[in-house]
Amino acid sequence: MKSTEFKDLILFITGPTYIRPEIRKAGTYCEFGHRDKVAKVKIESILTNLRKLAGVSEDYEVCLISGSGTFAMEASIRSLAKDDENILNVSVGAFGDLYNKIAVANKRNVDLLKFKPGKAIDLDVLEEKLKSKKYDVVTFTHNETSTGVTNDMVEVCKLIQKYGAMTLVDGVSIFGGVKVPFEEAKPSIYVTSTQKCLGLPAGFGIIFVHKDALEKAKTVENRGYVTDLVSIAASAQKSQTVTTPNCTLINQMEEQLKYIVEEEGIENRFKRHEEMQKMVADWLENSLSDDFKFFSQEGYRSAVVSAIEIPKYVDRMAIKESMRERGYLFDPGYGGLNKKLEESGENLNIRIGHMGDITPEMLTKYLEELEIEIKKFKP
Ligand SMILES: *Cc1c(COP(=O)(O)O)cnc(C)c1O
Repeated sequence: MKSTEFKDLILFITGPTYIRPEIRKAGTYCEFGHRDKVAKVKIESILTNLRKLAGVSEDYEVCLISGSGTFAMEASIRSLAKDDENILNVSVGAFGDLYNKIAVANKRNVDLLKFKPGKAIDLDVLEEKLKSKKYDVVTFTHNETSTGVTNDMVEVCKLIQKYGAMTLVDGVSIFGGVKVPFEEAKPSIYVTSTQKCLGLPAGFGIIFVHKDALEKAKTVENRGYVTDLVSIAASAQKSQTVTTPNCTLINQMEEQLKYIVEEEGIENRFKRHEEMQKMVADWLENSLSDDFKFFSQEGYRSAVVSAIEIPKYVDRMAIKESMRERGYLFDPGYGGLNKKLEESGENLNIRIGHMGDITPEMLTKYLEELEIEIKKFKP
């Protein structure tokens, strides 16, 4: 029996993302024993290249956790916040809220500071909050996927650190697309995953944890078993994972990271994402009417995902189906956010994921076809 077959589509959503044919093929390579020497060679290569892509010093441990980005976020909360410590979750959208849900599910003293969707973290407001109470641990989202906002990671980290708290950063949707400023921001932990800007299937959370944070983890009780950063890092040092990894994904990841580091080049990869952000901005400016605009605040627009406010006369769900006919998976906006916008009578969003291995050539063609579908709707 074959699995249900669907048409092959190019994904312009925000994860899972488009996977290059070479990496799809790498998904057919032989499985291996995860305690065999083959695993060691492959995982060592993966961790070394992740380190290069991140540009982190020896101050950080690089680890893999089976699961996805959310697992890595949960591991960070379980392992770095003590039960009686104060946690602040700073949210500019659905994924900031997700870190809060994880904290609430695991710890007692949790506060949430929320900013209006489309806005970045306002440093003055954050500082007031940090002054109001002694927080031990603060989380925030580097790139808010639901609204296309990239926070100023360096300034936010510095501010939090000024008040003596640890910084837990969710970089799930941006790592591999832009340079992450580890040196300047010095986050306690930065977590990401495979299925967004790395152009791989889902299956691992990726963790960059600072050695000081790891020292603290050793003193935290109730770290869980699979969420225990101490054992996750100990396994990583042996080029292993705590539990059986997805060997298919290891094969793909080894090849993809070699491609990024040795073939495409890290700087070129970052430049490509910047270029695609500008392409979307130009398209909005020059090809569409003033009824279409960025949902995200100017100055904080993401290089990897654009959220665009569309007028009410455009039926985004109809466009999703017509784009499917054209061979694409279109993103009609973040569901939860659009629901709220709809309830308050505001215009809805669509999103364009230009992350991972999407090229400017692919994006040009996509925008041309999307424009045709959009222009079928008249005010
Ligand atoms: C996708 C996403 C997550 C969730 O990651 P999973 O790998 O699906 O668990 C968390 N944070 C952000 C910013 C995301 O974009």
